[in-house]
Amino acid sequence: MPTEEEFAVQRERMVRDQLIDRNIADPRVLDAMRRVPRHQFVPKEYQFAAYRDRPLSIGYEQTISQPYIVAFMLETLQMSGHEIVLEVGTGSGYQTALLAELGACVYSVERHRMLARQSGQRLDELGYENIEIYVGDGSQGLADMAPFDCIIVSASAPSLPKPLMGQLREAGRLIMPIGDRRSQYLERVWRVDNEFQFERLLQVMFVPLIGRYGFKEI
Ligand code: SAM
Repeated sequence: MPTEEEFAVQRERMVRDQLIDRNIADPRVLDAMRRVPRHQFVPKEYQFAAYRDRPLSIGYEQTISQPYIVAFMLETLQMSGHEIVLEVGTGSGYQTALLAELGACVYSVERHRMLARQSGQRLDELGYENIEIYVGDGSQGLADMAPFDCIIVSASAPSLPKPLMGQLREAGRLIMPIGDRRSQYLERVWRVDNEFQFERLLQVMFVPLIGRYGFKEI
């Protein structure tokens, strides 16, 4: 197993070769990706591969996304540090930690109770205090905590869930994969003058958002 120093070298190399070389340029995103120890968010048996250019299994048929896709989604949110963020799909908690580094406060919803419990423990141990994790169907958002400056959904849906649109603050940004179960596009949505502007950004393959405004469980 690599030492912490060796993981730090791998992390720096990940930022250079997978992010900067592919035009991720926001210095706050790059610094956050340098700080957050991705290897601590993956199961022990995959830690050796934590900084590779690929997603990894985190159990329960779920994945932690490829570093480039995480950085790409974070960059599109254009966060300055003051944002109240809704994350749907906590998974390992890796992206949650990055959001906590980039914004003021993160509300994260995860459907799998065990994943929510594990990621909550991990984020506590790492000292994050600006994160709250909820168990439930994130396709319905979190009406009690709305509105949000940023919403990030890391599971795919056939269309943009209506409740999430309603919970986005004026001038807010939302990013999520939209498409069928096999292939989707990352779409960014801006709320401007109570209208929604959509931008199709990048073809991706995410696990499905299972819930009332997502896909049905099979
Ligand atoms: N961003 C995560 C990370 O850094 O590890 C990876 C998220 S993983 C690609 C997608 C997650 O969405 C899974 O953990 C899955 O259980 C969760 N999910 C699926 N449907 C959901 C729903 N309706 N509400 C909340 N979470 C959901």
